[in-house]
Amino acid sequence: MRCERRAMSRLAVVCGGSRGIGRAVSRLLADRGCRVAVVSRNKDAAQATVASLSAGDHVAFSCDVSEEQQVQETFDGIHRSCGGVSYLVNAAGINRDALLLRTKPEEMVAVLHSNLLGSMLTCRAALRSMLHVQGAAIVNIGSVVGLKGNAGQSVYSASKAGLEGFTRALAKEVASRHIRVNLLAPGFIRTDMTSGLNEQDAVRSVPLGRFGEPEEVARAVLFLLESPYVTGQVLVVDGGLQLTM
Ligand code: NDP
Repeated sequence: MRCERRAMSRLAVVCGGSRGIGRAVSRLLADRGCRVAVVSRNKDAAQATVASLSAGDHVAFSCDVSEEQQVQETFDGIHRSCGGVSYLVNAAGINRDALLLRTKPEEMVAVLHSNLLGSMLTCRAALRSMLHVQGAAIVNIGSVVGLKGNAGQSVYSASKAGLEGFTRALAKEVASRHIRVNLLAPGFIRTDMTSGLNEQDAVRSVPLGRFGEPEEVARAVLFLLESPYVTGQVLVVDGGLQLTM
């Protein structure tokens, strides 16, 4: 995979960019003139997202973010073919929602590895090239349940709470290198992840009375990426859900 290096155009890596929130982020960043590297396990789906982006040198990569070697090889490939990373958005994530007593240890590991370890590995891999890029920024996608907790989502909530602590600590760690790290915490967003929910029931607890759209999250991600004096923060995008939890 090659993408033409253009000095004036920022390179954004969107993990979990093939569907849902990550796909909306990829589209918005491409609309804003970024070159986008779309990363997901399913290469065809990542490729389909790339094909839907506005014109530019975008590329698709197949990578399981919870696998250290795959992450390293992917970011080496991105660096070789596209240059230094300006923006990293960690939107790859899974849920295995169930009461703790009904959750198998292997499901706990899968959720923690995809949602928390995966973001640690991609941040670590991206930082090497971000050190040499001006205005570099990372947005990790957490969740309101990581802030408030939710019955039936203890492991998922823990993965997202961990991501909040990781984000704040990493923000301190890399601030002296002018790299910013923030967390965006969505509520109910209309994607594959929420397609099994009863929307009418779920929105009773949402003051704005509806699910959010992936594009509405993408706008907030863009705000965090482009705000040069914001770091170590949590931005909640949930239609007010957190107020009722
Ligand atoms: P989707 O299920 O629609 O998309 C998930 C994306 O992550 C896909 O592109 C998927 O591609 C990718 N992905 C999952 N696991 C991995 C992995 N191990 N390695 C690489 N890519 C992976 O989810 P959403 O868009 O809804 O969610 C995006 C993020 O937002 C997640 O972190 C989620 O936890 C969080 N979130 C979502 C909310 C919602 O209401 N939708 C609410 C709060 C937080 P592939 O399967 O091909 O790998």
